[in-house]
Amino acid sequence: MVSGALPQDENGVYFVLTSADVTASSGFCTQYCGWHTYSTMSVSNTSKVIKYSFVGNPDRCPSACEAQTISPNGNAGADGMASIIAHELEEAATDPQLNAWYDRRGYENADKCAWTFGLTFQLPNGSYANMNLGGLNFLIQRNWVNASGGYCALSY
Ligand SMILES: [Zn+2]
Repeated sequence: MVSGALPQDENGVYFVLTSADVTASSGFCTQYCGWHTYSTMSVSNTSKVIKYSFVGNPDRCPSACEAQTISPNGNAGADGMASIIAHELEEAATDPQLNAWYDRRGYENADKCAWTFGLTFQLPNGSYANMNLGGLNFLIQRNWVNASGGYCALSY
């Protein structure tokens, strides 16, 4: 895009990802590792509902937001963010305006399986993974499957 502006895509989810030397004073590391929400924007006299998410670099607070400090791809911050991005994207898809899918306790789908990984395998560097995507290993938290009484899984 020549202007450098992002498109205003109502079907997209925009992620703000930070480096480990950046915090968010609203509670990154103490209240959350990531979150998603939405905002109504006026674009050329048209109202658009834009979904977005914040995911901080968990190298800033490994004990709070990183599942492991040695990671499959040798970058614990980025590998840790991949798992949190998956969590927030799943929730943004099923509860984009915070009024759709959540349970009686207020948990969104990924919240119900947060920080659970299912069957893992150990890699030569000592880290753990539970999936291989495009030739790279990742440890990605599971998501809720709302069938058969409900359970956490990596696929359905
Ligand atoms: Zn969540």
